[in-house]
Order: sequence, then structure tokens, then C-alpha cells
Amino acid sequence: MFVPLSKPDLTDLEKRYVLDVLESDRLSMGSKLKQFEELFCVTLHSKYAVAMHSGTGALHVGVKALALQQGDEVITSPFSFIASSNCLVFEKVRPVFVDIEPRTLNIDPAKIEKAITSKTRAVLIVHVFGQPCAMDEIEFLCSKYGLPLLEDACEAIGAEWKGKKAGTFGRAGVFSFYPNKQITTGEGGMLVTGDPEIYHLACSLRNQGREPGSEFLEHHYIGYNYRMTEMQAALGLAQLQRLEEILRKRALAAERYRDLIAGYQVPVSTLSRAGEGKPSWFVFIVVLPERSRRAAIEGYLRDKGIQSRPYFPPIHLQKCYRELFSYREGDFPVCEKMAARTLALPFYTRITPGEQEYVIAHLKRAIEGV
Ligand SMILES: *Cc1c(COP(=O)(O)O)cnc(C)c1O
Repeated sequence: MFVPLSKPDLTDLEKRYVLDVLESDRLSMGSKLKQFEELFCVTLHSKYAVAMHSGTGALHVGVKALALQQGDEVITSPFSFIASSNCLVFEKVRPVFVDIEPRTLNIDPAKIEKAITSKTRAVLIVHVFGQPCAMDEIEFLCSKYGLPLLEDACEAIGAEWKGKKAGTFGRAGVFSFYPNKQITTGEGGMLVTGDPEIYHLACSLRNQGREPGSEFLEHHYIGYNYRMTEMQAALGLAQLQRLEEILRKRALAAERYRDLIAGYQVPVSTLSRAGEGKPSWFVFIVVLPERSRRAAIEGYLRDKGIQSRPYFPPIHLQKCYRELFSYREGDFPVCEKMAARTLALPFYTRITPGEQEYVIAHLKRAIEGV
């Protein structure tokens, strides 16, 4: 049996929408983009949504919208996909990492206050693996210090905190539609905001700095080409129409994993959600027992046709961050300790109970035998 780490879930609906585009003459900035953005607003209860070519691009535009200066500091998490803090570095802003909570692997709100300095200009949170951050404390701190909040919700479409959607708490929130995400456009991203100025700036920056109604070769800002194609938007529209079904199936699959882990008495822990958060399942992570030989476990699973991956290595220990900011081992001990023990198991919308049982049975053998 081969069980991949992830795979997209595409149906005839996606194929039909993409073919519609290919049969039209409009391949960029057309009606599919508009429909995708409109449905995104409705789904997320957001005022505005701007689709872009990637989550990274959307996050870059979100950082630009805060008008930060070289040398400014932004508080963020070291336990994330590297793009979340790279977007700060793009703008010569310093990512100031704050250690994480071991239970959810999200930024620890109790440690934020100590990291605030006279140069702090914003807080960029990441709802890691689709588990929403503890928004009460984070919103309280942001308003106490007058700091704008940016949300990297790339892994958290549909996640909620007290009924409010992840990505809609901050000045702007961003999503990704890379193929391993809950819904995909191949490559793609979305910025949501309730602020009309950020909305207009994002529309302009994505489209070479053009303004609405301006001439094709008239540019108000130094912009980018961060546009999403109509083919991608068509794919995204169909996926978004199926979001409820997709998230329901993923939640069931996560539940089955938990039941199997309990049933087989596998000595791993899973993430527990914070307070009143409702997760959106991006990946399924297990925390291995302390001092496990993770590489050997991964190798054992690979021999059985099961893909797994250590998720995430701490950002501050990546070569480029050590060199740029002199971060070292020991700087964020909880992050480092957890990052050494996390393993992502195969997880996708159409994973079958048989595949999951196969994974867990072998995970147990791998942990006990190696
Ligand atoms: C996927 C992801 C991104 C980047 O999205 P792309 O669409 O791949 O550019 C950023 N942040 C996090 C947390 C992600 O998981």
C-alpha cells in the first residue's frame, strides 16, 4: 500500500469550471476571479477579499499595507512555515519570535508582552496546522499596545474562535491554496480585510500598482504581478463551494486517527485545541514520545509505503535566519523541544479508514520497534 502525505480532492465540478475558462477568451482578471472573491467574502464573513498568486504574495501585500519601515519589529511565531516570517524580511522588518504553547503549537500569548519594545509595530500570528490561536489574549494585547494584527491563516480556512473565522480578526488575514492545503488552486492565495484602504492598496499592488479606472500603462505604486489566473480562480470557486463537505470529511478523518491511536494504544499525543477554538484540519500531527528516534520511525514508515514528515523545523534555526539575526539553539526552547518530536501523518480529504488503520498500526510498530 502507498499512502501519501497529502493529495488534493478534485471532482467533476472543478474540471467543468476550469474547462469553462479554457473555452472562453478570458484567462486573467475575469468573472471567475470576481466570483471566487465574492464567495470567499460570504464564506469568511469578511468585507473584502483579494485573490493572489500565492499565500506568500498575499502575506507580502498584508505586510506592505502596514507601511512598516526598515528596522521596525514585528512579533511572530518561530514554529511555522518559513514564508510567514520571510514576508517581514522582504520589507527589511525584523521578525521578533515569541515561543509557543506546547498544547496547540501556536504563539504563547503569555510571552508576547515581554517581547514588545519601542520598535514593535505589529503582531503577526499564525494559526498553525489549522488550530486557531487564543484570540482573547492576543486581541487584548494588541489593543493595549495599539499594535495592528496580521493573521497568517494559510493553514486555517474555516477555523473559528468563539464562532468568528480565523483570518478575520486582524487588519488583514491571508490564506493559501497550495495543493496540500484544505482547498487548492494549484498555486494561489487570498487576502481578506475589513479596511477599504487596505483593500484598494492590495488590488493595486497585485496588479502592477494600477488604480481602478486608470489606463493600462498608468501606475500609481511600485506594484507586483501577484495576479491569480482565471483557471486558478475557477478551480478555487469549485473547491470553495465544496468547503463545508471538505472540512467535514477532514474532521471525521482526524477523529478516526484519534480513535485508532487510542484503540491501538500508540504512545503519542495529538494537539488539543485551545479554549473555544474550532480547528480546520490542515495536517494531522502526532507528538512522539520524548527521545524517540524520529528519523528511524520515518524510515520504517517509508519502507511500508507511508509518507510522513517532521513538521516544522523551527524558523529561527534555518541557516538564513541564523546568519541574518544570529538566532541560536536554545532561544525558543518550547518550540525546539516540540519541533523535535512532531511528525505529520498522511492526511487528505479522501483518506480511507483502511489507509488510516494501516498508518496507525505501522506507527505503533515503528515506535515500539525502533
Ligand atoms: C502554505 C503556507 C504559506 C505560504 O503559502 P503559499 O501559497 O505556498 O505561498 C504561508 N504560511 C503558512 C503558515 C503556510 O502554511
